[in-house]
Amino acid sequence: MSSVRDLVREDLRDFAGYASARTQRLEGDVWLNANESPLANPGDAEGRCRRYPAPQPPELQARLAEVYGVEVEQLLIGRGSDEAIDLLVRALCVPGRDAVLATPPVFGMYAVSARLQGAAFVEVPLIDGPDGFAVDVAAVRNAALARSAKLVFLCSPSNPTGGLVPLAEIDHLADALSGRAIVVVDEAYIEFADAASATTLLAAHQNLVVLRTLSKAHALAAARIGVAIGHPDLIGVLRRCQAPYPVPTPCADLALAGLSPDALALTQARVTETIAERDALAAALTTAPGVRRVYPSAGNYLLVRFVDADRAFAALLSAGIVVRDQRAAPQLGDALRISLGTPAQNARVLSALQVSEIAA
Ligand SMILES: *Cc1c(COP(=O)(O)O)cnc(C)c1O
Repeated sequence: MSSVRDLVREDLRDFAGYASARTQRLEGDVWLNANESPLANPGDAEGRCRRYPAPQPPELQARLAEVYGVEVEQLLIGRGSDEAIDLLVRALCVPGRDAVLATPPVFGMYAVSARLQGAAFVEVPLIDGPDGFAVDVAAVRNAALARSAKLVFLCSPSNPTGGLVPLAEIDHLADALSGRAIVVVDEAYIEFADAASATTLLAAHQNLVVLRTLSKAHALAAARIGVAIGHPDLIGVLRRCQAPYPVPTPCADLALAGLSPDALALTQARVTETIAERDALAAALTTAPGVRRVYPSAGNYLLVRFVDADRAFAALLSAGIVVRDQRAAPQLGDALRISLGTPAQNARVLSALQVSEIAA
């Protein structure tokens, strides 16, 4: 079996990255090695932020590994999963040579990171079928091999279409691309899905990476905590490509508080409520005036096609409700993406759309 290290850019395989004051393991009780201030900032009464943080705060690492059911060595904490996407593209793709593959309509950061790295961006469109948008896995495999993609991004549940990629298909794809490309499964919304995480496939595939985040179900978007989970060798490479101290202490503290057993239980209850709201709103929207199609969703949002999306967007806006206009996305010229809110907010969405002009 080939090593995942062979997929990393040749020039970065033995790259040590930045050696910070925190990299050396030394003992002492007076720390004068990092040009930090000996006294706390007056606004930081407890001096929590006086010194540089651990590059990967051990307590948060341990808790995230526990919550996601993986080993600490398999996990990299970053500034949101957005940073993980960027690190993967930078560490894997040689500019002008290697490609990144994704399946539009889909989350835009894969294309942005590819472009910033000078990596070609290969698109294999989702197929709009009777059960919603689905990944054409055979086409993805063929295109990845033909266009020398180093990274294949699958979004599951997919933003904005809401569909899941079956684990069996991810399993087959990782097998088919073994030694050629890494399959990245972006699970930003998996908490809202009735499906197992692709982390359950990690033991079988070195070339599989799963992205998780605290930004959506865990309601900590501003804390910017996301993780990449994969083979320890690859995680080590990504860590060495990352900024020296990527996890601010206040963010790590917030994340730990947000992952306490009590907080997790409350989050789980809210997720359950959001799922019920999603299914109820989807059913109600199906019969709303001017709605063409409501896609089944495994996330905390609904993708909706309208007879006149312009009017629907305007009707929502004039009711003070801002939704995501998807009309510039491929295949979605008549669609809006509506995030689930509180039950009261969802009721407002529905009543704002109960005006007959939208159907005209
Ligand atoms: C929101 C979102 C992200 C970004 O998450 P952060 O952890 O906040 O960076 C990643 N992937 C998808 C598909 C998203 O919708």
